[in-house]
Amino acid sequence: MQAIVLNGYGGIEQLVARSLTDPVPREGEVLVRLRACGVCYHDVMARQGHFPRTTLPGVIGHEMAGEVAALGSRSAAFAVGERVAVLMKDHCGHCAQCIRARDHLCEKGAGLYGEEVPGGYAELVCVAERALVRVPDGVSFEQAAVVPCALGTAYHGLERVAAVRPGEAVLVTGASGGVGIHAVQVARMLGARTIAVTTSAAKRAFLLEHGADDVIVSPELDFAAEARRLTGGAGVDVVFNIVGQMAWAAALKGMAVGARHVFVGNLNAAPVSLRPAHAILKEMAFLGTDGVTRAEVQTLLELVRLGRLKPVVGGSLPLAQAAQAHRAMESREACGRLVLTM
Ligand SMILES: [Zn+2]
Ligand SMILES: [Zn+2]
Repeated sequence: MQAIVLNGYGGIEQLVARSLTDPVPREGEVLVRLRACGVCYHDVMARQGHFPRTTLPGVIGHEMAGEVAALGSRSAAFAVGERVAVLMKDHCGHCAQCIRARDHLCEKGAGLYGEEVPGGYAELVCVAERALVRVPDGVSFEQAAVVPCALGTAYHGLERVAAVRPGEAVLVTGASGGVGIHAVQVARMLGARTIAVTTSAAKRAFLLEHGADDVIVSPELDFAAEARRLTGGAGVDVVFNIVGQMAWAAALKGMAVGARHVFVGNLNAAPVSLRPAHAILKEMAFLGTDGVTRAEVQTLLELVRLGRLKPVVGGSLPLAQAAQAHRAMESREACGRLVLTM
């Protein structure tokens, strides 16, 4: 099979086209002929060397969709030819987290696809049967590839972790990116008022088009005063912080009494500081979110089929152009999720 292999940590020149031996599914596994794989900022950070568990050389990418090509022994839940999306991470199916339907928190599976185990910048991949979800008719492979990570992270973080209620004000940092643009859409679906923060004026129209009620353009991420002004002085009820530390100071200043702050992304991997009194006196909650459950991915694919949610595919490129996709991500040219197609 053809694949793009990450040879070592570094620049885009580390992504190299290679011909690899076709993988063979083992017991409980399914061979998937990939048709699309989303390009996540996580992939860029993996290439840069931020994650010590990245296998080198190895195939990165965890946003996969395709068709079942072959079945390993004792794999019976899917038939050859069925259209499937792959969860970002393998899970064991029987630990305490899996039993409580928190399979995204399982620590006993094989790991994250494209990190500990081979991922989606390739024509074929072997995955555990339990990591697959059927893709309904009417949902394309590109759309399906965007569902588990970009849309799923937004949905799980807003619906389950932040428990957004109708009428609340939700502020999203990094709103024009893959997770951000879906967070804007999900917050709106949940009945919230959405305030999208972007560093680039060029992205304003894109954000308004995809459901933002208000857009704050702030190259310095100094958005607190404007967030307060837009909420009549009260501040926002939820901050969905995809940027991390660079947006922390403004996020804290822009939060209402009783607000929730959700850490979603961690772009510069820097720590934040918090005075306990700030959280105590305003009864604020500081939360983290990571991934999406299998059941939520099933729900989301159905919501996409019904047209309630629309995956935002910002562009698709052939697999051979993975390096160009990384360049577009790093230069922040991309709007929504870029997808590689096979
Ligand atoms: Zn991702
Ligand atoms: Zn488990």
